[in-house]
Amino acid sequence: MKREPALLRWIYTVVGVAMTTLSFSMPGGQARDAIHLAAALQLLPVVVFARWRNRLSWYSVALMGSVGGFYALRQLAADGSPTYAAPIAAVFALAAGVCLVIGLASLLRSGGDRYATGLWGDATIVAIGSWIVSWAVIVEPVRKLADDSWRAALSGLYQPTTWVALFLAAVVMLSRHRRPTAMWLAGAGLALNLLADLIYSLLDAGHIGSGTARLAIPFYVAAYFCAGAAFLHPSISELGRPQPIPAGDSIGRLIATIASLVVPVIVLAATAPNNTADKVVRSVSTFVLACVVTTRVLVAVRTNRRDQVELLHGAHTDPLTGLPNRTVLLQTINDLLRNSWHPDDQPTLFFVDLDRFKNINDSLGHAAGDEVLVTVARRLVNAVSESATVSRLSGDEYVVLDVNAKSPAGALEIAERLLAVFREPLALSQGDVFVTASIGVAAISPTSSSSPEDLVRHADTAMYRAKDAGRNCVAVYDESMHERVAHRLAVETALYRALDRRELRLFHQPILDLQSGDVVGVEALMRWQQADGTIVSPAEFIPIAEDTGTIIPIGSWALLEALTQLRSWIDDGVCSPSATMSVNVSPRQLADSNFPAVVGEALSRSGVSPQLLWLEVTESVMITEPELALATLRRMRSLGVRVALDDFGTGYSSLSLLQKFPLQRIKIDRAFVQGVADNPNDRSLVRTIVAMGRSLGLDIVAEGVESVHQLQVLSDLGCDKAQGYLISHPVPADAMRSTVAALERLGRFPGLRVENGAPTR
Ligand code: C2E
Ligand code: MG
Ligand code: MG
Repeated sequence: MKREPALLRWIYTVVGVAMTTLSFSMPGGQARDAIHLAAALQLLPVVVFARWRNRLSWYSVALMGSVGGFYALRQLAADGSPTYAAPIAAVFALAAGVCLVIGLASLLRSGGDRYATGLWGDATIVAIGSWIVSWAVIVEPVRKLADDSWRAALSGLYQPTTWVALFLAAVVMLSRHRRPTAMWLAGAGLALNLLADLIYSLLDAGHIGSGTARLAIPFYVAAYFCAGAAFLHPSISELGRPQPIPAGDSIGRLIATIASLVVPVIVLAATAPNNTADKVVRSVSTFVLACVVTTRVLVAVRTNRRDQVELLHGAHTDPLTGLPNRTVLLQTINDLLRNSWHPDDQPTLFFVDLDRFKNINDSLGHAAGDEVLVTVARRLVNAVSESATVSRLSGDEYVVLDVNAKSPAGALEIAERLLAVFREPLALSQGDVFVTASIGVAAISPTSSSSPEDLVRHADTAMYRAKDAGRNCVAVYDESMHERVAHRLAVETALYRALDRRELRLFHQPILDLQSGDVVGVEALMRWQQADGTIVSPAEFIPIAEDTGTIIPIGSWALLEALTQLRSWIDDGVCSPSATMSVNVSPRQLADSNFPAVVGEALSRSGVSPQLLWLEVTESVMITEPELALATLRRMRSLGVRVALDDFGTGYSSLSLLQKFPLQRIKIDRAFVQGVADNPNDRSLVRTIVAMGRSLGLDIVAEGVESVHQLQVLSDLGCDKAQGYLISHPVPADAMRSTVAALERLGRFPGLRVENGAPTR
């Protein structure tokens, strides 16, 4: 719609108020009727000008204006004395009322159909209620007075349409959170028009004198201007927009409906029927009203019951898969624990968690993820007996409760059956995908004092064990698992505060050059001494720190600490100025976008040249997030920092990895070094690794050297450097000076004397 200038609206308002006041203050006569006529006729150009797209309200207001104009003209012609409405005008008025009702109904429809059932019942009650009142108060008296059944019937019908329109307008108002000005104006116009009509109808029926009836004209004038102003107001466009309708019946609607029941009853009781026809109309109307009310109540009860069922269903069902949710599962376990079961039965919980489900969501999108969840749900249901409950707890977690499992062996059979569900690929709309699952099994004992939540947690714990064991397998819960979980939780919690409490330290293990026999670098290895003196091995706490993310601050601390230490050793002459510092970096650190900045800052704060820093990484990050690892390692390379591949030989150890990533060193894992002296297989493997590394121009370090024999063989095989308990255990920083000095005293390997297979130191 066109936005009318505000000035025009102001002028319109001023004219409207002026004309209403004038018509009110005038004693009567032709001038007043002329104002009435002008006020009615101005509506026609206004609605045309405003061109609002809701045609029905357009027609109804146009009709209202025409009817008003018609009355005013007749009044003028009758030279001021009050006239009764002509049937043709009453027909127009009725049409205006009907148009308005339909227009308002369509507005309500556009907002959604939640109101539909009750609303039309209530509107019918309002219609019949107001019909009964208007029959007793207006139609019957008019029939008697004027002996004009036609006119009486028309105005009798007209009244209910305007009441229904007012009722619907109120519902439209109540149903909206925002009530635009245009809505208030239209509502006011409608109410004023109804009031004026009522005054005329009461005049028609002889209840009031013509003096009071003249009050109706200012109401009409005000009504026309309100309707016009509603059309001109810019907010009218908001009226047609669909609005979310709040659920439930509003109090206002209830009051209107109850009033439509009570008022007719009072009116019927207060007025006696005139004749048989009157009696018949009153009885039939009351009967119809009773029928509509009964139907409305029945519908309300039924809708309520249906809503309740839906609500209950929604509260107990997972909306995606339609499976029972956690509440139902816990309730079922609870019922089971309260009731005794057959001694041959061994109710068992199976916690099924999809492996790497996040990958599917990330790579194929959430819609595919949802498809997977739904398909898996269906397959799980098909895989178990009918007495079993398959529920979905959240995300990719399902729990199956089989009450008829017979024994631990039987439970394992069921678990295997559940695993087998994943052997076939899942046919998604984007193509087939393979998904595996890890399953935790926990039996429910009849004497169990555990709560349903505890029992589900046991199955969950076992499921984590299955994940740790490499996924796609089954693990059965036992008490020790619970202890391990509790221990892990304790470590996890303590680890959060370890850094602040200064419980973390770095130990250092020298790296020896096999050609020169010099200490060419050290590896920093973290140690955690808890407040009570317990020392936790990094092999235990680093993976936990990795899982919980605490590795990020801990790792940053280690980097700065190690480099600062190297700086002071070089400055103090403990190490040569070219000695390097190796720092272990875990996958989570490497994947952190802030990591290059952390390295840069540690280098600049310690004043150590980037060439002296070796970062030790493991293959896992290169396998799981190759792109990210490549980008980070390239950044490191550009900083001048070098990267070593730690624990080489234990993982995938593919040649392509060595070619693809910017690596400068491989560290042969202790597992091969240990067998290098005695085991021909290990020796040939180390030989191959050394040859491969050399051909790629990589520096080769052997880890975990424990005997001179091993060192000898490694040297013979062409290994550059070595590290291990033979050379030195990891030592605290303040022991480094003596350690390096002792190693220097030993001289250059193979000058290391070997007597009866043991070093002379
Ligand atoms: P790693 O980087 O492979 O470190 C070598 C491990 O082997 C160290 O264990 C070291 O004490 C041990 N070791 C050295 N020589 C010998 C030997 O001759 N015989 C035997 N049996 N073991 C030897 P540690 O200190 O317990 O560290 C274990 C792992 O924890 C490290 O393996 C590394 O992956 C990780 N780690 C240690 N400190 C850090 C750290 O600051 N950050 C990160 N992300 N990981 C760390
Ligand atoms: Mg290492
Ligand atoms: Mg290692």
